[in-house]
Amino acid sequence: MKRPPSANQYRTAWAGDLRASEVGEEVRVAGWVHRRRDHGGLIFVDLRDRSGLLQLVLHPQSAPEAHAAAHDLRSEAAISVGGKVVARSADTVNPTLATGEIELAVSELRVLATSPTPPFPIDEDVEVDEVLRLRHRSLDLRRETMRDALVLRDAVVAVMRELLAAEDFVDIETPILTIASPSGARDFLVPARTHRGSFYALPQSPQLFKQLLMFAGFERYYQIARCFRDEDSRADRQPEFTQLDVELSFIGEEDVLALTERVMARVFEIGGFAVAAPPWPRLTYADAIARYGIDRPDTRFGLELHDVGELLRGSEFKVFESVLSASGVVRALNAGAHELSRAEQDGLNEIVQRYGAKAVAPIYAGDGGWRGNLAKFFTAQAIDAVNRELGAQDGDLLLFVADRAEVAAQALGALRLELGERFGLIDETRHDVLWVTDFPMFEWSETEQRFAAVHHPFTAPAPASGASELDFSDPGALLARAYDLVCDGVELGGGSIRINTPELQQEVFKVIGLSEEEAGARFGFLLEALRYGAPPHGGIALGVDRIVAICAGRESIRDVIAFPKTASGVDPLTGAPAPVDSAQLRELGLRTLA
Ligand code: ASP
Repeated sequence: MKRPPSANQYRTAWAGDLRASEVGEEVRVAGWVHRRRDHGGLIFVDLRDRSGLLQLVLHPQSAPEAHAAAHDLRSEAAISVGGKVVARSADTVNPTLATGEIELAVSELRVLATSPTPPFPIDEDVEVDEVLRLRHRSLDLRRETMRDALVLRDAVVAVMRELLAAEDFVDIETPILTIASPSGARDFLVPARTHRGSFYALPQSPQLFKQLLMFAGFERYYQIARCFRDEDSRADRQPEFTQLDVELSFIGEEDVLALTERVMARVFEIGGFAVAAPPWPRLTYADAIARYGIDRPDTRFGLELHDVGELLRGSEFKVFESVLSASGVVRALNAGAHELSRAEQDGLNEIVQRYGAKAVAPIYAGDGGWRGNLAKFFTAQAIDAVNRELGAQDGDLLLFVADRAEVAAQALGALRLELGERFGLIDETRHDVLWVTDFPMFEWSETEQRFAAVHHPFTAPAPASGASELDFSDPGALLARAYDLVCDGVELGGGSIRINTPELQQEVFKVIGLSEEEAGARFGFLLEALRYGAPPHGGIALGVDRIVAICAGRESIRDVIAFPKTASGVDPLTGAPAPVDSAQLRELGLRTLA
């Protein structure tokens, strides 16, 4: 807040901006009583406005009326005071406060509104129950850390807008009341009163509209877009969230990645989040899964996964052999020199079992081979080869999972993260940003017995690894022209190059089990628009809430959203979601089931 406020009856200056250079000036400031200290004679009040804190001093002799009024002042009352800026004596200077060299000798005090004792302290950064904070959000947002987080959010969004505008992007709004769309999640539905039995859906993202804007010739679009996904509660998900949504025409992957790097490098810079200068490293999906067991790897520590199946094939160990002969894999990681207790070992089993694996086989390297009773099942040659692959030293704990490839990857990937944390291997001051590319286009859904698009079905497919043509006879092998931006194991955003012909779009719909008719009924508008010279186009969406949270060093995205919902999707402030009265339902032609 650099510009002085326009002077009015409440204030002529921001409290937190006053400095020693203003000593001698008569000013008026307004804000809240942050703290009050009664020293018998003198009363000190810390006044807080959005710019910061200023110490007020009230003398019983020179301003008896103001002093008397200050007697009854309670924390969080809204006040306006006039007085003279004075220098503090050397022994009372407060170096921790920006205004610490001065104070305001108050001559007049106006109490604008009083406050009862707030349900939690505003003047200390103490842990407060989150539901209580959300219920009294206007008080919670008065706290310095919350104010800083939202002001940072504004700065992040402002820099996104500034950079994109400088690169000729146009900010265009897209509808909130729209039609159900497939982005992998459930839609929020809004009953249409004027069309009984019909529903609008809230957008899961502006995906199709941004593509239509490309067909329309806008070339470069962006929007700070609200997206809505009716997913089951997860600790750090919100039913509505904000993304920087971007789309460009006549471009390829490199253009989107370079643009994103320009924008995000600047965002990280103003967010005070230290990352390497772009270009950022790229990892293919296949490599990410092979080395980290996850498509959003945290690369700040090692414990990489290794495929040791081939080295161990033909052993006496039935568990590995049966998995290998059923086209499964044996993957392992070297956890380093750590002895595990029985209970800790059971704990590791629990982790991998969450991902469908049966167990972890722990083996200690030692005596030039392996210690323990599993060693006898393997030849010295195999043991030696695995030790070399894993860089094993005597005393190292080697963890093996044998299973189907996806299960082993996921299980060991989760184990790796757990151990990284448990062993304190993550340098919290280091931040790794990277791209994950070459995702598979489709994945087989066991539950639905059909292929689903890994990104979304408007993503352009690419030939299978090593192939030069798109071959739809083996959809599971096709790659996608999609990319994700990952930071410290968190996905910050993702996007793709899109399909730009109706034929290819139909082909993809067919793979995911949409007949021509169904595709026409749901996406006829897209297929029709695609017929009229749709340019090559692509884009990306970046999660603003998450990006601000990591810059602000907050664990939860709820701390960077002014009015979030709890993890269970409830707003303790307004009480949403709430029942509506029967008249409202009748008007909509709806009845609720008991
Ligand atoms: N629409 C996608 C999403 O919200 C992002 C993109 O492909 O641009 O996840």
